[in-house]
Amino acid sequence: MIYDWSRKQAHINGNQTAVSLNDEKITYGELESESNKLAGMLIRHNLSPGDRVGLFMEKTPKTIIAMLGITKAGGVYVPLDPHSPTERVAKIIKSSKPSLFFVDHDTTHQFQNIIHSDPETGLIPWIWWSAESLLHGDDFPPQFIYKDIKSQKNEAYQVIRNPARAAHILFTSGSTGQPKGVVITHANIEAFINWAVPFFNMKQGEHTSCHSPLHFDLSTFDIYGAFASGAHLHLVPAGISTDPKKLSAFILENKLNQWFSVPSALSYLAKFQVVPKGGYPDLKRLIWCGEVFPVPALQYWMRNLPDVQFTNLYGPTEATIASSYYTVREHPDNLTEIPIGEPCSNEKLLVLDKDLCQKKIGEVGDLYIEGSGLSPGYWQDIDKTKAAFFRYTNVEGRRERIYKTGDLASLGKDGLIYFHGRSDYQIKSRGYRIELGEIEAALGQDEMLREYAVVPVHIDGFDGTAIGCAYVGTSMKNGVLAPLLKQKLKDKIPSYMMPQVWQEYDLLPRNGNGKIDRKILSDQFQQKPRPQ
Ligand code: AMP
Repeated sequence: MIYDWSRKQAHINGNQTAVSLNDEKITYGELESESNKLAGMLIRHNLSPGDRVGLFMEKTPKTIIAMLGITKAGGVYVPLDPHSPTERVAKIIKSSKPSLFFVDHDTTHQFQNIIHSDPETGLIPWIWWSAESLLHGDDFPPQFIYKDIKSQKNEAYQVIRNPARAAHILFTSGSTGQPKGVVITHANIEAFINWAVPFFNMKQGEHTSCHSPLHFDLSTFDIYGAFASGAHLHLVPAGISTDPKKLSAFILENKLNQWFSVPSALSYLAKFQVVPKGGYPDLKRLIWCGEVFPVPALQYWMRNLPDVQFTNLYGPTEATIASSYYTVREHPDNLTEIPIGEPCSNEKLLVLDKDLCQKKIGEVGDLYIEGSGLSPGYWQDIDKTKAAFFRYTNVEGRRERIYKTGDLASLGKDGLIYFHGRSDYQIKSRGYRIELGEIEAALGQDEMLREYAVVPVHIDGFDGTAIGCAYVGTSMKNGVLAPLLKQKLKDKIPSYMMPQVWQEYDLLPRNGNGKIDRKILSDQFQQKPRPQ
C-alpha cells in the first residue's frame, strides 16, 4: 500500500526530514504519527473504505499528511485544483461525490465561493486542515480541525490491505466539457515506483523536487519515489514556479539531486538562461515527462550540466505516471529527435493499426499500452472506460487489457518508440493536458458567437504549443468580441486553458466534407506574430 514506504522510513530514519516547504519541515517520524492520528480521527468520523475525500488545499507538508491519513483509513483522495474556476471544481465535486473535504488557510475563500455556488456541496462535512485559527467556520463548522489530532492515539492504521483498491482519483480535461476522473490503485502506483526508484538509483537522504501540482500525476512519483527511497522531498512554493531566477536558486540552494517536471518549466529556465555558471553541483538527474522537450532547450541544459543524467519519461495518467523511458546518450550537438524510448518493467508499448495488428518498423500507428500501470478506468463512466480500455489478442494469442492513448507513434530500427503527436484534439500546453473540446464546450454557452474552433498553434524553439481561437461573431466586429469572450471564459476554464491568440473571421474555412478546416486555422495562426 502506498503508505507502507513512509511507514518503513519512520522506523529506520524517523528523525530525517521527509517533506519541506520554505521553513516548514516534517520528519518521517512526524509524517507517520500525524497521518496515523488523522486516520484514527477519520475512522471515528465514519469514513468508510472507498469513500472519496476532496483535498481542496495548496501543496504543503500537511496536505501530504492528509493523503497518507486518508489512505490509511481506507479512503480515496481526490486532489482538487484551488486555482481552477469555481464552476469547474464544482463539476469535479459533483462527479466524485466526496464524503469529506479538507480545506486550508490559503483556500478557504475559494471554498466559500464553491459552497455558495452549490448548496449541496455546502452540506458535505469538512475539515479545517491548518495550524492557523479557523476562518469563516461559523455558519457551518468543520467536523474537526488540525489541532484536534494532536491528542489522538498514534496507531498504525491500515483499514484496507488490498493493492487493487483505489488510492486516488485524478481529474483530467474532458472533451465534452466534463473533466474525466482517472481511478488509480495502490498497485498502479507501486508498479511504477518499484521500477523507478532502482532505475534512477534514488538513495536515502537525497534531495528531490516536487514541482507539479497535486492533481497532476508527476507529483505521485515525486512523493512516493521520495518516500520509497527515504529522500527529502522539497515542495516547490507556488510563487516561484513562474520566476526563472528564483526557480534556479531553489535547485541550487536546496542542493537538489533530482529534478522532475514537465519540459515547459525547464524550457522557461532555458529561455532566460538562468542556469548558474558552475551548474548545480548536487544535481544528478534531470527527468521530464508530459510533453515533447524542445531540442534547443534540452541542448541548453545538457551543455550547461554535462555530468547530469537526462531522462525522458512518457505516459498518460491512465497508465500511471509513465510507461516508457529514454536516457539521452547523444552529445547535445547531435540531438535531433528524442525517442520516448522503451517500456518500463511490467509495461508494453504497442504500435497498432486500425485492426489492432502490429505496424511494421518505421510505420506510424496508434500507440497502446499494456501492463501493470493501467488504471481500472474512468470514475463512474463505463462508456468512456470501454472506449479507451479493452481486451485484444496479442501475437502470442493471449487476451490482454490495453489502453488506447490517442498518441501516434512508430517503432524505430533501434527498437525504440518515437512519438508523432496526437490523433485527436487533445494537446499539451505549458505541460497541461487540455482537450480543446473542453474550451469549445465552455465557449458553446455564448450567444455572441455564430461559430468557433479552438486549435493548437505549434511554436518552434522553447515554447511548444499555444492555443488559438478562431470565431465568427453574431454582430460585433473588429476584435471587440475577443476581450468579452476571454472575460466570460475566465469563470469556466482554468487560466492554462485560455487561448492566447484570437482571430475573428467572417466565415471559418471548410474542408471537402464541409467541416471546419482546423489544419488551415492552425497554419494561419502559426504565421501570425504572437503576443509575448
Ligand atoms: P497526462 O495524462 O497529463 O500525463 O498526458 C498524457 C499525454 O501527454 C500523452 O498521451 C502524450 O500525448 C503526452 N506525453 C506524455 N509524456 C510525453 C513525452 N515524454 N513526450 C511527448 N508527449 C508526452
